[in-house]
Amino acid sequence: ANPLLALDYIPALAALGDDYYDVVVAAEFPQHQLRFRNDDILQQLGLDPDTVSDQHFIEAFGKFQGREPFLALRYHGYQFGAYNPFLGDGRGFLYGQVKDRHGDLYDFGTKGSGTTPYSRGGDGRLTLKGGVREVLAAEALHALGVRTSRTLSLIETGESLWRGDEPSPTRSSVMVRCSRSHIRFGTFERLEYLHRPDLIRTLLEHVIDVYYPSARLFIDPQARYLKFYDELVRRVAELAAQWMAVGFCHAVLNTDNMSITGESFDYGPYAFIHEYDPRFTAAYFDDTGRYCYGNQPAICQGNLKALQKPLGLVMPQAEMTESLEAFKDHYYTHYRQLMLHKLGLDSLAPALAEELVEKTVQLLGGAQVGYHDFFLELTRQFRPEWREDASTMLGTTMAASDPAAANLLEAWRQLYHHCLNQAPAEAMTSVGQRLRQSNPETVLLRPAIEAAWERITEEDDWQSFYDLLQHLQSPFLPA
Ligand code: AMP
Ligand code: MG
Ligand code: MG
Repeated sequence: ANPLLALDYIPALAALGDDYYDVVVAAEFPQHQLRFRNDDILQQLGLDPDTVSDQHFIEAFGKFQGREPFLALRYHGYQFGAYNPFLGDGRGFLYGQVKDRHGDLYDFGTKGSGTTPYSRGGDGRLTLKGGVREVLAAEALHALGVRTSRTLSLIETGESLWRGDEPSPTRSSVMVRCSRSHIRFGTFERLEYLHRPDLIRTLLEHVIDVYYPSARLFIDPQARYLKFYDELVRRVAELAAQWMAVGFCHAVLNTDNMSITGESFDYGPYAFIHEYDPRFTAAYFDDTGRYCYGNQPAICQGNLKALQKPLGLVMPQAEMTESLEAFKDHYYTHYRQLMLHKLGLDSLAPALAEELVEKTVQLLGGAQVGYHDFFLELTRQFRPEWREDASTMLGTTMAASDPAAANLLEAWRQLYHHCLNQAPAEAMTSVGQRLRQSNPETVLLRPAIEAAWERITEEDDWQSFYDLLQHLQSPFLPA
């Protein structure tokens, strides 16, 4: 028996009735080659990877016939600020839902599994490169501590796909994503558009029941809904802080790409920043820079504000406004903590922490040094003696290009020196440790993806992809 098919699939979403999805059929593919399997997730699901063969993966997640019903989820969303009522799962569906070892419910969602009523003229397929990119992004973010969906499998499917931005056909794939939920902000927006407060209430109760244990405790519906929104605001603020600290630009933060569980997902034209530049924009079609790196917190806050419209049909708006006012505070508190960790520190007086993070970011904005290179060099060069003598700190890395930059660097050195001195000398070992645990040696920069992809297309050599993946999965320097 195939352990992947023998999992206990729970039709949690299907049980809500047929207003939230369409039943669809999957495409049949000419070929099936397993390119990625996530044994880490198998273990999370309570399976022993040794008992799951590659053929099992292909059977379960490449040949879909006979495993129906599949549910294409209905949703709308604000895309680049404009409301689009023609969205929905256009190239994927909810394959199934399972509980992990801890009893938490997870979705298996496909991508590239064929057309649906929401394909809008698209082919319902996923390019192999798109699949490879999503695998890499999710694994990299997960290893860096970002709350994200992951990829369970990627199977190459042997079709030729034509894409507008490529002169020749490209290879095809089908992916299975494992995430807490595929319910999006846009799932609720659709129900507001249809004037269905009854369906909003049902869906909200479901979301709270499954994903918001802290809200579940409130018996009064209004208190329960408000606690949910409050918690969602906190989760999304923390997610934005995580993206910013690890230097990630999602690139397409439309409301249909915002998960109701506050998890990061759907990796299209994303990029990790090279240098610290708030205006860095990852998607070539984002001409105004709407979803640039530095805008992400504000965009998330705006998307949470937009969600008040559908939620407003079942709960009072004024209290949601109050909850959302805490976004900035949640965001900065979390961002500051993550950045302090990248600097090897854990606790500082709040004002001093704020000053250090601000000065660090300012230094990076003007310096001729990569964002990740800076923190990695800090990690490599750190010595406990820096607490006594700051003059050699980052001397070689940060050779200042002009007097203004030299002054900035000197001011930063003194501030960092001062911060190190807030802790006793014995604490310097843990500074070194924290630096190593917070600053990756391997970062998923674009050239690394392109190099791996080149080997795949030119020689059908997958080794550099697997090597990159392995480095991303344990990205830190040895302890
Ligand atoms: P995304 O930009 O990936 O979040 O997708 C936006 C919408 O376009 C979703 O409704 C997708 O399902 C749909 N979509 C994207 N690519 C395709 C495709 N190749 N075929 C059909 N629908 C697609
Ligand atoms: Mg999407
Ligand atoms: Mg997408």
